[in-house]
Amino acid sequence: MALSPEFTLTEQEQQHLHQLYKELHAHPELSMQEHRTAERIEQRLSALGIEHFRCGGTGVVGVVRNGEGPVVALRADTDALPVAEHTGVDYASTAQGTLPDGTSTEVMHACGHDTHMACLLTAAGVLLRQREDWSGTLVLIFQPAEETGQGARAMVADGLWEKVPHPEVILGQHVSPGDAGTVTMALGPAMAAADNLRVTVYGKQVHGSQPQNGIDPVVLGASMVTRLQSIVSREVDPRDPAVVTVAVFRAGLKENIIPETAEFTVNIRTLTESVRQQVLAAVERIIRAEAQSAGAPDPVIEHYGHMPALINDAETAQGVFDALRGSLGADRVAVERPRMGSEDFGVLGEQAGVPSVFWFFGASEHGAEDPPGNHSPYFAPLIEPTLSTGVEAMVTAALHRLSR
Ligand SMILES: [Zn+2]
Ligand SMILES: [Zn+2]
Repeated sequence: MALSPEFTLTEQEQQHLHQLYKELHAHPELSMQEHRTAERIEQRLSALGIEHFRCGGTGVVGVVRNGEGPVVALRADTDALPVAEHTGVDYASTAQGTLPDGTSTEVMHACGHDTHMACLLTAAGVLLRQREDWSGTLVLIFQPAEETGQGARAMVADGLWEKVPHPEVILGQHVSPGDAGTVTMALGPAMAAADNLRVTVYGKQVHGSQPQNGIDPVVLGASMVTRLQSIVSREVDPRDPAVVTVAVFRAGLKENIIPETAEFTVNIRTLTESVRQQVLAAVERIIRAEAQSAGAPDPVIEHYGHMPALINDAETAQGVFDALRGSLGADRVAVERPRMGSEDFGVLGEQAGVPSVFWFFGASEHGAEDPPGNHSPYFAPLIEPTLSTGVEAMVTAALHRLSR
């Protein structure tokens, strides 16, 4: 697929892009441990003559000042996942890492954040080469720890928005298993809010043969899990998407002991704050009422994780969308429905109080049936036209906001 005539990478830029991508891919690092990655980004920014500083530990921020005009922030995330790579590509990762709980693991850029970094660094080079065509300030944000939802908050807490000129918009992108060379964007809610709860259910421990003398937290917990599934089907307006998933349930050690406790997690995805509040309240109501109906002690519900919904500002997104269509061609840029996955990109715009726009670029062979997606050990983005498209989308979106 040919890129639009106005946009071409020089041979050297393209070579650099591919090299950088393969190198980053071969050296993935876990969330909040992106030390080598950060150094590599710093080296590249220095080579481009871009001033930069560390922010939020392993985060890196570059600033390009090019005269009067708008300030536009561009973001790429930098972390990898505890996944053993099975792609078979010759630049595959053999890296090992250690999780916060001390477990050692293989590490892979299974979410494709390596494409985000390579594309953003290359886009910065292209924008510098074309600095006569625009004026303003570019803020390049290389954000760690997206996968754990910590990175954006860590950068904001470390004073990101006090250390750079205040942007008027933040742009970000994610690689996805769609057709390579294409871009899709939601014009409104783009990705769901996520909330994680840990529930401890208390019963009364007795011999497995004497249930009449105890309170069984397994039966009680099971009925909670079943009943929680009625929130989406019976309480939430069917026109509003929501997900309630119980993916962890732990209880007991032996078949003839009814245990004292059971523990499970609840993962909730919603697109609006009102539905989020409705689901959170319903989960709590059901869990407490089920315990009461069993004559069990009040369960403990711990809210241990939250990512806000990622909302594309409709008007700003429409402008970027039109610019992308203008550059890539209408057949390569489409509107998509919101995804129920989550991203901490939204935190950056929310905390800066400015609109943000996020889109996806495809990575798979056209017509591929059920291609491996993000987080799969087989996720292997086609190098081209995936990477050039990621660069072009970033450059186009930035120029749309910066053009003289
Ligand atoms: Zn991911
Ligand atoms: Zn990701």
